[in-house]
Amino acid sequence: MNPVDVVLLPGDGIGPEITQAVTRVLDAAGVKINWVPGLAGQSALDAGQELLPQETMDAISRCKIALKGPCTTPVGKGFTSVNVGLRKAFGLYAAVRPVRSLPGVNTRYDNVDLVIIRENTEGLYSGVENEVTPGVVMSMKVATQKGCERIGRWAFRFANRRERRKITVLHKANIMKMTDGLFLNCAADVHENDYPNLQFETAIIDAGCMRLVQDPGQFDVLLLENLYGDVVSDLCAGLVGGLGVVPGANFGDEEAIFEAVHGSAPDIAGMNIANPLALLMSAVMMLNYLAETKHEPHFAECAARIRDTYDAALQAGETTKDLGGNLGTAEFADALIRRIGQG
Ligand code: ATP
Repeated sequence: MNPVDVVLLPGDGIGPEITQAVTRVLDAAGVKINWVPGLAGQSALDAGQELLPQETMDAISRCKIALKGPCTTPVGKGFTSVNVGLRKAFGLYAAVRPVRSLPGVNTRYDNVDLVIIRENTEGLYSGVENEVTPGVVMSMKVATQKGCERIGRWAFRFANRRERRKITVLHKANIMKMTDGLFLNCAADVHENDYPNLQFETAIIDAGCMRLVQDPGQFDVLLLENLYGDVVSDLCAGLVGGLGVVPGANFGDEEAIFEAVHGSAPDIAGMNIANPLALLMSAVMMLNYLAETKHEPHFAECAARIRDTYDAALQAGETTKDLGGNLGTAEFADALIRRIGQG
C-alpha cells in the first residue's frame, strides 16, 4: 500500500518535543504515513506567517486528517484561538476524549473507562462578547437546534457502534433553560427516536461532577456542551493520572484532527520532561480511524502494537516524571522504540 498523507502540526511550547517523540515511535512501528509538515500558532507567527496560515488550512483540506501538537495563541492581541479557529473552519463539531485507567499508573480508581463527547463549536465559545455599558460586559452563549441535534446524533451513533451501554448528558438546564434546555432536549429526542436500545441519563453538571470524583465507574459516555466539556475533560484526566495521559480527536463531516487534551504547557517547554503519551494515544486513535476509513488493517495492527508497547512500559514503571518515573520525553520514546524492536 502507498503511504497516507497526514498533516503534522508540531505546535508550540512542549508541542515540538512531544511531536518528535511520537513520530519517532510511529516510524519505529513501521506506520505507512507520509507526514506533511505545517505551522500553526506562535510558531507560525514567529515564521512571519498568519496564526493559521492558508498553506496549513489548504494542507488539512487536501489530506482531511492531521495530528496536532498543542498551539499557543497570544493573549490579548486580538487573535482568535488556534483551536477554536481550526474547529470552526473545518466544522469539527465533535471532540472525543477517551479516559481510561492505565496499567501501572497508580490513581484513586482503577476502573475508569469513560468517553467524553464535547460539542466543539457553540456555547460560550461563540466568541461574541461586548461591553453593554462601561463596567458591564457580556458573553453570549449560543446553542442552535442544528448544532445540538448533530452532536446528539453523533454521540449516540458513536456509543452504539462502540457497544457502549449508556450516555449521560451533564447540563445546567435548570438555570440556562433555553440553551442547555435545547441541548438536553435534542439528545433526549435522538435517544427516544433512534437509539432506545441505549441507556440515557441526565445530571445537573455540579452534582454530576461530584458523582464523577466519588464513583467514576458508574459513567460510560458523557455528552457535554463546549465549556462543560472543556472543564470536565481536565477533571476526568485527573482521575487517571493527569493531562499527560488523555488523548483526543476532533471530528467534522469531512476532516479529523487528532490532539492531546492538554495545552502547550509553557512552564515545562524545552525541558525534556513533558509526557508525550497523550499525543501518542491520540496518534493511536488516528491509526484506528485510518484503518476504518481507508479499510487498511495495517493501521489497526500498528495501533495495537503501539498500545501494547506503552501499556507494557507503564506496567514496568518506564514513565516520565508526571507519572512518577524518571525518564525524559526523548528517553521515554527511546524505551518504547526499544520495546517495539524486541517485539
Ligand atoms: P490550555 O489553556 O491550552 O488548556 P493550560 O495552560 O490550561 O492550557 P496546560 O498547558 O495543559 O494548561 O498545562 C497545565 C499543567 O499541566 C501545567 O502545569 C503543565 O506543565 C502540565 N502538563 C500539561 N501537559 C503535560 C504533559 N504532556 N506532560 C506533563 N505535564 C503536562
